[in-house]
Amino acid sequence: MPPASRVEADVIVVGGGGAALAAASAARTAGAEVILLEKNPQLGGSTAWSVGSVTATQTPHQRRASIVDNPQDHLEDLKLFSAALKLEHRDNFELGRVLCDHSPAMFDWLLSTGLEFVGPFPEPPHRRPRMHNVLPNSRAFPYLLGRHCTKQGVDIHLNTAAQKLIIDNGRACGVVARAADGTSREYIARKGVVLAAGDYSGGRELKSRFSSELIANVDAVNVTNTGDGIRMGMDCGGTVINGDYIRGPILRFVPPAHTTLEQRLPPLPAITKLLHWGFDHLPKRILRPVLMNYLTTALAPEKSLYEDGAILVDRDGLRFGDERDQPARSAAVRPDGLAWMIFDSAVADQYQQWPHFISTAPSVGYAYLEDYRRTRKDIFHFAQTPGELANSMKLPRAVFEKTLTEYNANLQTSDAPPRRDRPTITKPPFYALGPAKAYIIFTNGGLKVTHDLEVIGKNEQIIPGLYAAGANGQSGMLLEGHGHHLGWAFVSGLIAGRKAASVAEPVK
Ligand SMILES: Cc1cc2nc3c(=O)[nH]c(=O)nc-3n(C[C@H](O)[C@H](O)[C@H](O)COP(=O)(O)OP(=O)(O)OC[C@H]3O[C@@H](n4cnc5c(N)ncnc54)[C@H](O)[C@@H]3O)c2cc1C
Repeated sequence: MPPASRVEADVIVVGGGGAALAAASAARTAGAEVILLEKNPQLGGSTAWSVGSVTATQTPHQRRASIVDNPQDHLEDLKLFSAALKLEHRDNFELGRVLCDHSPAMFDWLLSTGLEFVGPFPEPPHRRPRMHNVLPNSRAFPYLLGRHCTKQGVDIHLNTAAQKLIIDNGRACGVVARAADGTSREYIARKGVVLAAGDYSGGRELKSRFSSELIANVDAVNVTNTGDGIRMGMDCGGTVINGDYIRGPILRFVPPAHTTLEQRLPPLPAITKLLHWGFDHLPKRILRPVLMNYLTTALAPEKSLYEDGAILVDRDGLRFGDERDQPARSAAVRPDGLAWMIFDSAVADQYQQWPHFISTAPSVGYAYLEDYRRTRKDIFHFAQTPGELANSMKLPRAVFEKTLTEYNANLQTSDAPPRRDRPTITKPPFYALGPAKAYIIFTNGGLKVTHDLEVIGKNEQIIPGLYAAGANGQSGMLLEGHGHHLGWAFVSGLIAGRKAASVAEPVK
C-alpha cells in the first residue's frame, strides 16, 4: 500500500537529537500523540558527536560529593563566562535563568532514562564542580533516549527530512517532509510543531549569510546539520539572534578512524553501571584506558599548550602563524585544514595531571598526555629527534627540521612570527599530536523564543503552534563553558514538548 500523503498527531517534533528526544518524551508524558521526524538514518545529531558533558546543580552526584549548590549560583557563574569574553551584552541571561532553574530536574530526567554519568568535575569559574560526563560516550544519548521515547509510544520516522512548515491562518499546523525514497508527506500537528533540527554548522548558505565566506568554507564536525529548522522558522517570520557567534574554526584532533570493540557494544545500563562502579572504585590507571577506548568524537587541544611552548605545523611541515592568535583560522586555509601540534619533553612532563590537560574528554572529564599515548596511537607521535618525529607524522623531514631550527633561533619566517618569549623546543624526546583539523563545531544563532520556547515572529508576535528547542531555540544565549549546550538542548526540549502538548486543539 503506498504511504498516506497526510498523517496526523498532536505534536510533530522535527529532529532526532537531544532537544527533539526530550521534547518528544515530554509531550508524550503529557498525553500527546507524537511523531518525531529525523532526516538521517539514525538518531543523534550533534548530541551524539558531543563530548557528553552536561552541567547541572543539585544532582545526586553533587550530593554524594557533599557539594551544596543551587541554580542561582549557577546562573551567576554562567555570567562570568560571558564576562570573561566581554560579551555579557550579547548574552540572554533571562533564558540563562530558565536553563539553570530547570537543570536539576532535567538531570533527574536523564538519569530516569537509564543514562549514567560520572562527575561532577570542576570547571572554573564555576565556583563548584558541576560538570557531569555521560558514560560511556555521547552515543548513549540517542540510544537510551530513543529507547525511552519508543517505549513511551513516540512514533519515530527516520530518513524523513522536514522541508517546510504548513502555516494556516498564521498558525503552524504541521510540516511537509520528504522520505528517503523521495515521497513527500504532510505531517499535521493538531497542537504544535517543535523545531529541534540542530544548528547550521554544516550549512554553507546560513554560515555565509550570518558570518563570512571563510567560515562557510570550513567543514563542520557534523556535516548533516544544515540549519533546516532555523530556515523554516525564518521563513515564517522568526528572527535569528547571534547568528554570527560561531564556535569555530577550532582545531580538533581528527576522530578515531576505527571503531573499537567497546564502541561496538550498545551502551546498555548494565555496562555503563559497571563502568561507573569501576570509575569510583578501580585505580584510574586501569579504568582510564578502557573509558578512552569509547572515544568517538573530535577533541580540542587546550590553548594553554601554545602558551606553554607547543607549536603547529601544516601538512608541508611549515609553521603558519602565531599559535596563540586564532591558530584554527590560519589552519583552515592550509592544505586540507590539517595541523600537527609539536612540543618537547618539557611540555610533555607538565601535561600529565590537573590542571594541565590536553583536552576535555568523554567519561574521564580531562585527558592527559598519557591518555593519548595509550588510546590514540593514531595521532600520538614520539621520537628522539625532530627528523624521526617528522617520519612518524609522515611530514617532509627536511622542511620540518628547518621549521624547528628557525623557531628555536627566534627567526621570523614568511608565514609565522618569531618565537619571542616562548620556550625553545629542544629537550628530547620530541612529541607531536595530530593531525588536528580546523572545524566548525557548532553555531549559536537560534530563533528568538519566549520562556516557553514559543517562536516569536514578526512584530514580536508569537507564532501560534510553533516551538523551537535546543540549537533552534537558543535565542541569543551564548551558553559558554562546557556542558551548557547539551543542558539547554534537554531543558528546552522538555519545556517545549510539555508546552506544545498542553495547548488546546484549535477550533477548526
Ligand atoms: C564535537 C562536539 C562536541 C560537543 N561537546 C559538547 C559537550 O560536551 N557538552 C555540551 O553541552 N555541548 C557540546 N556540544 C554541543 C552540543 O552537542 C549541541 O549544542 C547539542 O547537541 C544540540 O542539540 P540539538 O538537539 O539542538 O541538535 P542536534 O543534536 O544536532 O540534533 C538535531 C537533529 O535534527 C536532525 N535534522 C536536521 N535537519 C532536519 C530535517 N530537515 N528534518 C528532520 N531532522 C532534521 C539532525 O539530523 C539531528 O539529528 C558539542 C558539539 C560538537 C559538534
